[in-house]
Amino acid sequence: MPNLKGIFQGKQKFVTVKAGTVREEAPDGLWTKCGKCGGILYKKELTLNLGLCGDCGFHFRLSARERIAITLDENSLVEYDEELLTVDPLGFPGYNIKVEAAKQATGLDEAIITGKGSIDGYPVLAGFMDFSFVGASMGSVVGEKVARLFERAARQRVPVIIFCASGGARMQEGMFSLMQMAKTAASCARLSGTRTLYISVLTNPTTAGVFASFGSLGDIIIAEPGALVGFTGQRVIEETIRQKLPPGFQTAEFALEHGLIDMIVDRRNMRKTLGSLLSLHGGRRQDAG
Ligand SMILES: [Zn+2]
Repeated sequence: MPNLKGIFQGKQKFVTVKAGTVREEAPDGLWTKCGKCGGILYKKELTLNLGLCGDCGFHFRLSARERIAITLDENSLVEYDEELLTVDPLGFPGYNIKVEAAKQATGLDEAIITGKGSIDGYPVLAGFMDFSFVGASMGSVVGEKVARLFERAARQRVPVIIFCASGGARMQEGMFSLMQMAKTAASCARLSGTRTLYISVLTNPTTAGVFASFGSLGDIIIAEPGALVGFTGQRVIEETIRQKLPPGFQTAEFALEHGLIDMIVDRRNMRKTLGSLLSLHGGRRQDAG
């Protein structure tokens, strides 16, 4: 069971007011604005509502910890590779300070948490990226954790699910960052060779190096509604090919229509869907003996 009570059943309650109706002097930090409809939302209610706008269903970003809480069975996660710590291989100015600030702000050591847990009793090796840690950019630690997750899964023959999010490469790590694409893709191929299921879930946004490596290598690729998914930004592509891109380009919906992803799943149905997929692909419940 997820450890946020009752989030998958019963009527959701939310407080939503239209933009402009909240007085300017509303206390800071209690309210937030919907990125889609502009509605002003009470943060506490937003949390109870899985980070969905009560008016338009816009999916706000979740932290890795929030995602774990609504996805995995309660207290089932045993984390892997927590001892891997970020270094500054190029002596990039300000990088150590940036990483330290991200650690303080998020309570994480890096932009992904990996480990073994279960969903509805089905064992799974899972990864949860967190965009608030340096834009969930893929440096050496993120890449290494993902590669090790695939390799463990290949040995254990346990399915992998990774909730992806990323703004791209960790530019402060230069080539060390870029080589993580090849490394994670190679590990993913090894897993595939053992015929073990890998599901990637693309959350908003999943772009650049993460999209172009393990993000788009899932046997089943799921996205959350409205998520930005793609390699390069719209403006860069338009300037390169000197053509206007169609409306909705690089949204999950556009990607589904063009066969790039397999399904779009509303966050309220995500845990159930993942449980069904694990079951359909021969998952055996831990408590089934
Ligand atoms: Zn909204």
